[in-house]
Amino acid sequence: MKQAVAVLTRHDKARLIAPALSQFGWQLTEIASFDTDTLGSFAGGQSRFMTAQECAFRKAALAADLSGLNIGIGSEGSFSVGPFGIGTYNLELICCVNVAAGWAVTGRFYGPSLAQQWLLADAESLQRALADVEPNQHLVLQQGDYLKKALTAAQAHNLALLRLSRCEVTLSYDLRAHLSPQRRLHIQQAADDLARRLQCVCPQCATPGFWPDKALPGLPCEACGVATSLTSARQAVCQRCGYTATEPVAARHASQQYCQECNP
Ligand SMILES: [Zn+2]
Ligand SMILES: [Zn+2]
Repeated sequence: MKQAVAVLTRHDKARLIAPALSQFGWQLTEIASFDTDTLGSFAGGQSRFMTAQECAFRKAALAADLSGLNIGIGSEGSFSVGPFGIGTYNLELICCVNVAAGWAVTGRFYGPSLAQQWLLADAESLQRALADVEPNQHLVLQQGDYLKKALTAAQAHNLALLRLSRCEVTLSYDLRAHLSPQRRLHIQQAADDLARRLQCVCPQCATPGFWPDKALPGLPCEACGVATSLTSARQAVCQRCGYTATEPVAARHASQQYCQECNP
């Protein structure tokens, strides 16, 4: 018999997460009765008061709580400026808690997003912007207090042309999961990551999520052997019993460009 698992979502995310988790014999049930927007949302409105990780954990715990099931899943996505201040990056977290067994495991995806925003003044720049938008990605149009969400590219085109006769408009990606194909792909990748982490169980107590998350610095310099800040080993620590396993990385030495002695 399949084990019922609750997912807290309003935007049809259970369907994206389910394939990766089917190997565990789980039957995902959506809990749509709770307004997840009260925990913060992308498109303005409620402001965020938790980190993405806290938010994903909170949703997972709520899913278990509201459904009365042992296992709950919550997901949380966020967008921010990428590394070195370049581009927009998408972080997707999917947290799975088992309230009966007392563990929580979070899968993640972090990578570049196509998300863009344009300030448009004429039909020409509108055409150029829309040519960049991938198929089925929906858009948000803003002009002063006027705001229209969930527009297809064709709808955005017509509405923007109409509005441009008054003054310039701002066009941006609608990043809600059901309106953004790339974000759905990222959520699936986070679900795959969650599945991999759930498969890794503690050798001592079999609690899932025994994952080498912790990077230990100290890879020795190739020239002088002094410990550098580069990762020398990765460590997994069991959240239940504290059992620890340390795996050295494949590299034996760090290039001397990372050495404080050889290259200060
Ligand atoms: Zn353990
Ligand atoms: Zn050195």
